[in-house]
Amino acid sequence: MKQPIELLGLSKSELVSFVETIGEPAYRGRQVFKGLQQRRLQSFEAMSDLPKELRARLNEVSLASSLTVESRYVSSDGTRRYLMKTHDNLPVETVFIPEERRDTICFSSQSGCPLQCTFCLTAQLGLLRSLTAAEIVEQIQIALNDAYGTGVKPPRGTNLVAMGAGEPLLNLEELLKALRVMADPQGLHIVPNRVTVSTAGVVPRILELAKTSDRPHLAISLAAPTDELRNELMPINKRWPLEELLSACKTFEKTLKPGERLTFEYVMLDGVNDSDEQARQLANLLNRHSIKAKVNLIPHNPADPLPYQPSSDEAVQRFKNVLESKGIHAYVRRPRGRDIFAACGQLAAREGTLSNRIQTTLVGANN
Ligand code: SF4
Repeated sequence: MKQPIELLGLSKSELVSFVETIGEPAYRGRQVFKGLQQRRLQSFEAMSDLPKELRARLNEVSLASSLTVESRYVSSDGTRRYLMKTHDNLPVETVFIPEERRDTICFSSQSGCPLQCTFCLTAQLGLLRSLTAAEIVEQIQIALNDAYGTGVKPPRGTNLVAMGAGEPLLNLEELLKALRVMADPQGLHIVPNRVTVSTAGVVPRILELAKTSDRPHLAISLAAPTDELRNELMPINKRWPLEELLSACKTFEKTLKPGERLTFEYVMLDGVNDSDEQARQLANLLNRHSIKAKVNLIPHNPADPLPYQPSSDEAVQRFKNVLESKGIHAYVRRPRGRDIFAACGQLAAREGTLSNRIQTTLVGANN
């Protein structure tokens, strides 16, 4: 049997072509696009401006939505965390982070992850599969509908970060497709300039992204200033060691737009990568490649099966001071939604043990 086509992953012109293949005029395609992407309707039944027969036909051959929300938690700081399931029962994790001037949605690009970062709980799932463009778009739709109501325009701008489960650059094609759909002014209208993709360092894809005109911003997860330690923490480093990674970053840097900066993420692990000497090594590494990046120092979120603890506030501050003394712009990322394990790599893998321990408002599964 032919698989129903997921319409959320189609651009307006692709949707127009699609409705034409089922014998409908082009304007119906534009109507369906608006219903899905601007009104954020999750079923054809809800598109009351379409004839009944067309809604029934669309239901036969296509899907308006395919994710279901398994559980939803709201943190005391307003962060919302969702564990969703795909049609084939695989976990997808998404986090909505409200801030004063904007909201940020952290979405997943894969279910599970093939990379084996030792500080990350998602790594323990392995790769279940890459998500489709429609499944990427739907995560954003679900979070916005939940926060503001179906189709209600968010009061602030929405930023997106591909920092949930998965290595986004290993699903680059579907990711870029999703971003192009979401950029449409008659849809969600979230432009690539509001999107940051975080990679563990897939060098060939960084170079490919550098050549993409409508690309998002890039963040690189470093976690270590030397190959020896990075091989241990992020085994992808054995394939693309620091020198190769940094030279790809340099190439990428040449394509930055005015005001845009490359970001390095550095998860702070107590007694592992947080010494003064390691801060100097990191600064020297970036300076040697003359990369004008900023470094985000990220407090590690401890999780039982992982052998790491977060660095103390003093250690993080000292690390930051050393970087700054060597001319590197460093920021300490404020942990959000810690009480609901909302950090990258904390969601799906932990769901089995979560329910007994959660300290916050369990709003309950919906959808
Ligand atoms: S940190 Fe990111 S890239 Fe590494 S295993 Fe976890 S999800 Fe994958």
